[in-house]
Amino acid sequence: MKMPADIIKEIMKIVPEEKISDVAFEAANIVLYTKNKGYFLDDKETVRKAVNTVKKRIELRPDPSMCVDQETTEKLIHTILTAESGVDQIVFDPERSVVYIEVENPGIAIANRGALINKVKEETLWMPVLKRKPPIKSQLIENIRSVLYENSEYRRKFLHKAGERIYNGWQKERKEEWVRITYLGGGRQVGRSAIFLQTPESRVLFDCGVDPASDDHAYPYLEAPEFRLEELDAIVISHAHLDHTGFLPYLFKYGYRGPVYCTEPTRDIMSLLQLDLIKIARDKEEDAIYSVDEVREVVKHTVTLDLESVTDITPDVRITFYNAGHILGSAMVHIHVGNGLHNILYTADIKYAKTHMLAPSHTKFPRVETMLIESTYGGKDNVVSNSADDEFARFIINTMKRGGKVLMPTLGSGRAQEVVVLIEKLIKQKKIPKDVPIYLDGMLWDIMAIHTAYPEFLNSSLRQRIFHKEDNPFLAENIKRVGSAKERKQIVEEGEPCIIIATSGMLTGGPSVFYLQELCADKRNALVFSCYQAEGTLGRQIQAGVSEFSITTGRKVEAFPIKLEIFKIEISGHSDRRELMNFVKNCSPRPRKVLVNHGEISRCLDFARSLHQQFRIETICPRNLDCLRLR
Ligand SMILES: [Zn+2]
Repeated sequence: MKMPADIIKEIMKIVPEEKISDVAFEAANIVLYTKNKGYFLDDKETVRKAVNTVKKRIELRPDPSMCVDQETTEKLIHTILTAESGVDQIVFDPERSVVYIEVENPGIAIANRGALINKVKEETLWMPVLKRKPPIKSQLIENIRSVLYENSEYRRKFLHKAGERIYNGWQKERKEEWVRITYLGGGRQVGRSAIFLQTPESRVLFDCGVDPASDDHAYPYLEAPEFRLEELDAIVISHAHLDHTGFLPYLFKYGYRGPVYCTEPTRDIMSLLQLDLIKIARDKEEDAIYSVDEVREVVKHTVTLDLESVTDITPDVRITFYNAGHILGSAMVHIHVGNGLHNILYTADIKYAKTHMLAPSHTKFPRVETMLIESTYGGKDNVVSNSADDEFARFIINTMKRGGKVLMPTLGSGRAQEVVVLIEKLIKQKKIPKDVPIYLDGMLWDIMAIHTAYPEFLNSSLRQRIFHKEDNPFLAENIKRVGSAKERKQIVEEGEPCIIIATSGMLTGGPSVFYLQELCADKRNALVFSCYQAEGTLGRQIQAGVSEFSITTGRKVEAFPIKLEIFKIEISGHSDRRELMNFVKNCSPRPRKVLVNHGEISRCLDFARSLHQQFRIETICPRNLDCLRLR
């Protein structure tokens, strides 16, 4: 048996070494394999003692040679997990002695302290892992799961290598201590977020986005002198939006093969958005910057983490995800450097208020010296009104009454589902007629399916409704999927009033632009903006009041008049000015230094000035390529 790191020696002093047949890392997790059945089923808490001593996650698994054959195991699983739990797919990962069981009701299998699941373990000698089967079938989730299953042998090696990188520097003395942050993107702008952290032992990139509104400066500054792809240890992704993930597959195209840390919903949603980016480029007859193969590479290299679980990602960097409240699976990243050397909170995008779908962002942290905070709506006048829901309902009803259609361009993830939950709520309150069809175009339907797959990331009230299937707003009958160009044509040509929700959110491409072209000349119709419109986008132009717009396809330029009614509702996944101030105010502990990013210049500066005045903390608005020494 190979023992690469000191930590393994430490563990072997506590567990009975003679009963351990193999040891493997799965990134920061340590897996012990045993050929001893008695020890596997009842280890007399030696593993728990080891966990308490080394403070790492350790799992005991049966040696693959011990597992009952797959056919028998499958039968046993069906017998043990009763019909009510709704066993669907069973997938074996024989390299790691793990069996994934997709069930409709994981609750039943884990009831009574996991009595049933323990029985599976005892009788099959496999490690059972439950997966929730989404109530809406999602081809994407199936594809992602199959990429992971098919590459299980590669993943075992890759995860072990990632673990060796983490643990081989463990407990070593360092001569010099310092921490630096370089803005490769996202400084004084909304777009291409990419923040590079250097410590004596690590090179970590936080987010890697594109700027969807820009043609010339759309990508992060990878040419910055301190950044070298081949030296990068890890990438951490805060949430799925393309301004945080759109450039990630490009790094794989140029050879990055290290880990990508994110939450499970983020992995699924970002893959979908990246694939969509390729599709949009193709539709515009442009070359995409990467292909489907690279998106698959990203999936192969993801290491998903739960919220609030502390994880080592390099020898001297430890991260913890906290709920950000922004979109499904979105996380703030708490970064602990060295042994108490420095603590950073990277908020990425946050919503510090309960929304229809999510809980407000977390505010309690172990320690924070430096905070990196967004300022999308950081300007003095960026206030979201509270009466928005009722106004929105009135607007929808008026449009319906005159026989018009409502088009809502939304971002791929987050807003569209928030809109669905809001409309279903207004229908329940009888403010909007219950038969109004809501069309979700293409990808949005898939994203909704992902929402139903991870209810544990939703706020508690919505989660409760989803667990009782009959009250799941995402499964309402008036919500319809639009998949093809033919179906789109049908919807705009039919006279019936309806609500159409489609990407892209800023009208930079995708089906929302098609619908707009079809609907814009009829003044009975309506256009509802529900998300931030970046400078340079068609959405921003229309908000500014232009009377027509033109679309260029190849060499053809076509002009369209804007006659439909325009409405703006802030269903924002971002905190407004007041919420941002309150977030910093309620943050415990309060940071000593705040770097304000992810906002237009004036908003960044304005928010930074106010933070300084009100809380007497040092504030900085870094520009792109600025490098700051934090310690
Ligand atoms: Zn975002």
